[in-house]
Amino acid sequence: MENWWQKPVTSLKGIGSKRAEAFSRLGIETVGDLLNFYPRLDSYIDYSHLATIRELKTDGSRQIFEAEAMRAVERYSGGGRRYAVITVKDETGYAEIFLFGAQRFQARRFKPGSRILVTGRVKPGRGAAKAVSEVLLQPCDEYSLDRSVGILPVYNLTESLTQQNLRAAVRQALQMAQAYGIPETIPAIICKKYGFPSRFESVSNLHFPASMERFRLAKRRLVYEELFLLQCGLMLNREHTHDGRPGIKHGRNGEIVRQVLRNLPFSLTAAQQKAWADISGDMEDVKPMHRLLQGDVGSGKTVIAALALAKTAENGFQGCIMAPTGILAQQHLETLTEYFKGTGIAIKILTSNTKTAERREILQELAEGRLKILVGTHALLQDDVVFSHLALVVTDEQHRFGVNQRAALVNKSEFAPDVLIMTATPIPRTLALTVYGDVETSVMRGMPPGRKAVETLCYTGDMRQQVYAGMVRQIRAGRQAYVVCASIDESDAMEEVRSVNDVYAELKKTWLKDIPCGLLHGKLKPAEKDEIMEAFAAGKLKCLVTTTVIEVGVNVPNATLMIVENAERFGLAQLHQLRGRVGRGDKQSYCVLLTDNLEADNLARLAVLHNSNDGFELAQRDLELRGAGQLFGLRQHGLPDLRLADILRDTDVLLAARKDALRVLAQPELRQEMLQGAANLFDSCFAGIFNS
Ligand code: ADP
Ligand code: MG
Repeated sequence: MENWWQKPVTSLKGIGSKRAEAFSRLGIETVGDLLNFYPRLDSYIDYSHLATIRELKTDGSRQIFEAEAMRAVERYSGGGRRYAVITVKDETGYAEIFLFGAQRFQARRFKPGSRILVTGRVKPGRGAAKAVSEVLLQPCDEYSLDRSVGILPVYNLTESLTQQNLRAAVRQALQMAQAYGIPETIPAIICKKYGFPSRFESVSNLHFPASMERFRLAKRRLVYEELFLLQCGLMLNREHTHDGRPGIKHGRNGEIVRQVLRNLPFSLTAAQQKAWADISGDMEDVKPMHRLLQGDVGSGKTVIAALALAKTAENGFQGCIMAPTGILAQQHLETLTEYFKGTGIAIKILTSNTKTAERREILQELAEGRLKILVGTHALLQDDVVFSHLALVVTDEQHRFGVNQRAALVNKSEFAPDVLIMTATPIPRTLALTVYGDVETSVMRGMPPGRKAVETLCYTGDMRQQVYAGMVRQIRAGRQAYVVCASIDESDAMEEVRSVNDVYAELKKTWLKDIPCGLLHGKLKPAEKDEIMEAFAAGKLKCLVTTTVIEVGVNVPNATLMIVENAERFGLAQLHQLRGRVGRGDKQSYCVLLTDNLEADNLARLAVLHNSNDGFELAQRDLELRGAGQLFGLRQHGLPDLRLADILRDTDVLLAARKDALRVLAQPELRQEMLQGAANLFDSCFAGIFNS
């Protein structure tokens, strides 16, 4: 049967239109989707290995055991959250099962004396008891504890489906796969090289492992497959970008670069000098520059971009710089205009707000080569924006541009332009390779001299009124303040979050009754946002109550205070980026983190922020605390999220897959086999990268 994986799930027994709807909510429409819906990799239930409580290892690993419920109680955490504890026993000992969040309601299901099958993470508990958390509980009578059941998968489900529903459906899908075969997705020579199991064998063992050893082999193959195909897809995309256009060789630094350097009210720091040496070296080479400039917020990246733009202009070429928002583009325009004084080089800006007549003039000047430097937003990407000799593309991004957007800009030249990507977030090497391809990196650590570090304080909500009073004092002294909230309205907020609307309303009624104050959030129209932001930048508004929409590089040196409500909701790196909005002038600035979550983890996290102003260190801690997945979703780069592979954890596999991909693409027959394989992939979200 051809393309059996495209059949709708309703072609399986036991799935009617109602159940199909439930599957659809999980993103499962076809038989192929079902096979791609992988179970939780750390939660298989291995019936052939039931431990007694005494045998449970208290090393935090997931284990399974059977026990008798004794009693269930509710308790309160330090932060005032409720959770439930079920005490269980067997002949060998006791364990306490912790149920947090909505899970605590499950406690009622287990009456004293009933038997439970428990899977969860086991750690040492109180006294002799063991503590079990992140649990999956099943009443034992639902199962005959039949060891021949083998290893069962556990899926992440919504209420309307049970584990049994899903297992039954996947079993049928696997029968189909076995009968009709799953086509190969990676070249045979590679499967052989690594001794990978077949695709059917792998998918089958991921859902229903014949043994944990077979599961590991299956996973190894599927992780490789994701990374290999991702690399191939990206390399193919890049072939369209670097399609053999000649690169540009810039001359040695000349008069305009020197003039810009003279215009700076400061001299370059050692880190800036090093970065500039890297970049001018690249630009003087005929090979197109492809460089990532990483530097913390406020480290002075804009100056470097200005020098690169000056260099391209003095060589008679054009350069552009793309920023993620209109406000940032406007700020770049102002800074660059200042730096380029006396050079005779005009700089213009193009955004979605540019008036038609102005836009027409800019396009004309660009096409004729009279305009050398253009600053802009996504508006630069439009088809009718045509340069006559674009030689330098700078993107100032904070994870806001997708792979395809950057390519669209780079393709606007008859040459292969030099590309400079500026980012404030440290990006691990393997992620950079994946997202940006072969990229060189310059890192600027530390800050320009004379900057006062932002003082960061952390308080609980009972100090809120004092904190607000402090804000009013700052404002009366002529300064400005931000109040940052984690959500827009109460309705879409989780419990206990002070929404931006509420905080604004409250402040307008109380502390800020007669102080001009703005409200900013993502649901406003772009023009409204710009207007409010500009009024704040101009000092007309004294306080800005906002969500994280201000995260991206705005520069208001007069703002000296930032108050963050519900600080526990933000990541460390994010709080650091936010905090970078203050401390931009010569006055001492403050960042006050308000939180009512007194759990040790949260306080430890916020303490890191209190103790360090180093964005690189914080990003590193964030990685340790939150894991890579949350921080570096590939989707924000316009790439598919991976199902099994983790770009940071699977570094070795990624590097191997990358080498293989290069070799495969270089050989016509293997390349053909790879393309055929990618077409066989029935993972629609992932295959998308091959069609772009
Ligand atoms: P980034 O874009 O990296 O966040 P900016 O380029 O906006 O940082 O620079 C932040 C501030 O530091 C600007 O006000 C800039 O004038 C100032 N600055 C940059 N380089 C230096 C330097 N070498 N010495 C002193 N101040 C500097
Ligand atoms: Mg910047």
